[in-house]
Amino acid sequence: MNTNPDVKIYEYDAVIVGAGLAGLAAAKELTEAGMKTAVITKLHPLRSHSGAAQGGINAALGKDDSTELHEFDTVKGSDYLADQDCVELMCSKAPETIRWAERMGAVFSRDEEGNIAIRPFGGQSKPRACYAKDRTGLTLLQTIYEQADRAGIEVFDEWYASDLIYKDGKVSGVAAYDIRDSKPAIFNAKVTMFATGGHGRAYRFNSNAHANTGDSLSIVARHGLPLEDMEFVQFHPSGLGGSGVLISEAARGEGGRLFNSLGERFMTKYAPNAMELASRDVVSRAIMEEVRQGRGVGKDGQSVNIDLTHLDPEIILTKLPELRELAIAFQGQDMLKEAIHISATAHYSMGGIPTNIDCQVQKNAEGDLVEGFYAAGECSCVSVHGANRLGANSVLEALLFGRHAGENMVKALNDGVELRKASVTDADTMIAEMNTLKTSNGKERVPALRTTLQEGMTENAGVFRTKESLDKQLKSINSLLKKFKNIRIDDKSNTFNTDLQEAIELGHMIEFSKFIVDGALNREESRGGHFREDFPTRDDKNFLKHTYATMDKDFNMSQEWGEVVLGKFEPKERTY
Ligand SMILES: Cc1cc2nc3c(=O)[nH]c(=O)nc-3n(C[C@H](O)[C@H](O)[C@H](O)COP(=O)(O)OP(=O)(O)OC[C@H]3O[C@@H](n4cnc5c(N)ncnc54)[C@H](O)[C@@H]3O)c2cc1C
Repeated sequence: MNTNPDVKIYEYDAVIVGAGLAGLAAAKELTEAGMKTAVITKLHPLRSHSGAAQGGINAALGKDDSTELHEFDTVKGSDYLADQDCVELMCSKAPETIRWAERMGAVFSRDEEGNIAIRPFGGQSKPRACYAKDRTGLTLLQTIYEQADRAGIEVFDEWYASDLIYKDGKVSGVAAYDIRDSKPAIFNAKVTMFATGGHGRAYRFNSNAHANTGDSLSIVARHGLPLEDMEFVQFHPSGLGGSGVLISEAARGEGGRLFNSLGERFMTKYAPNAMELASRDVVSRAIMEEVRQGRGVGKDGQSVNIDLTHLDPEIILTKLPELRELAIAFQGQDMLKEAIHISATAHYSMGGIPTNIDCQVQKNAEGDLVEGFYAAGECSCVSVHGANRLGANSVLEALLFGRHAGENMVKALNDGVELRKASVTDADTMIAEMNTLKTSNGKERVPALRTTLQEGMTENAGVFRTKESLDKQLKSINSLLKKFKNIRIDDKSNTFNTDLQEAIELGHMIEFSKFIVDGALNREESRGGHFREDFPTRDDKNFLKHTYATMDKDFNMSQEWGEVVLGKFEPKERTY
């Protein structure tokens, strides 16, 4: 072991990894309650992916809407895999969360009567997505960052968290290094929270920021802790063809229509009632099916058209200005004048680090808890989205459960959680990983391995899956795990070593991708975002269950099934 006396040890009441909506909401609660709190983030907080959320945040504010209807839509959208107690908590507290954000200064768009405006989104029986033009996430992130900063949070930005300090069932902080100079440190804390966001970068076509490499998933898994429901990845119907950059569901919410190369409005075949506003899994499969049948558009025939030209141009200019700019910048297509090319893009992770309703991390399917460890936001699986998330429910989840995690950590601290002192040796695993990657002189290169992973995941573990495609991907991942040991990076320096960071992130992506593929192989049914062509129907008898998977040191997988918390909504066939 290369125990390093230069490792600095910081001591805090609470340490939070991640400064998106979930992390900042928790940090604000903790700091306002007088707890000494550190937020570690590899990006400046305002560059977190939460800031890219365009479309909206759900709350049943409409006159003829109700929280019960919001719950029903969420549970139905989840293909009945969501835990209904958590859904009830989320939907019942959604209106108050909007008011909380508004009181902090978030400026929502208004309707003609001056109320917070709401728009329709897919899979929802009423308009309920509150929004700030098409910059909802940015507005919320700026607001909460300002308020958390005012409360006095301490942010360690451009710090990379690499390891969890986990012993005897208890977490006591993280090991992290400063990206500026590679100096390692220990953040020793009484309570620790992960809020590290999504993992879409494991796919070739994705809507996610470069930082969305799902680091915390494998950091947790390397300690033998489980990940839940990782096979459920959401493919958003409208990524710009070719790049995957997101055109928010707001485009369909405001009236956008989908057409194939024959000019047919094909959703009439797949969801005759809800049409373009069926849930995301349904619309994505419809698009990919049209493409497979040779009715795609664009140079390679891999896209379909979304047409907004029938709308009043004022709607586009006032409600969707950023979407228009994105389509012009990336594709040279102006939605005021022409239909634009879109295709399904990897967007969101329904699975993640398993938690109970109070955001405490679970160590098995029975629900036993890891002491002092919390998770919220996209990296977690509390499970409010089950097998498929509804649009505008995720920003809500991140804010609401982030805040809830913060409140629960305050409670735990007030109840007297003790600090278990860390030592410099707790950074050994991280330092060894950094040194190995820097000194390894093999012949494999990060970009090539990453491309192989991303292309394989899109091709074999994407919108459509079969045993054959998943077996192929599993083989590819096993080979990538071996090749990764034989890697070489060129930058051996300690200053802003992005080569090193990208190598560490690639290691994470290969490892958690194995959870996605293994889960998808074991789940011999189709539910929500997981569609097995060889098992095309939902099978409640055998699979109305959560997946809890673990990985050993040699990357072998094991799996248990966990109970779904059912409630007032009985599983039914899902049609739109
Ligand atoms: C383009 C796009 C549009 C979207 N639109 C909507 C929408 O309209 N409505 C909706 O409900 N949802 C939307 N979503 C989903 C939603 O935005 C996210 O799920 C949610 O914002 C995630 O918040 P978070 O706080 O969990 O994570 P993020 O905001 O992604 O933040 C993650 C944080 O973790 C930090 N981090 C990660 N790894 C490390 C590490 N190893 N060390 C240190 N720090 C680390 C990052 O620096 C960052 O601060 C959209 C997503 C995308 C990609």
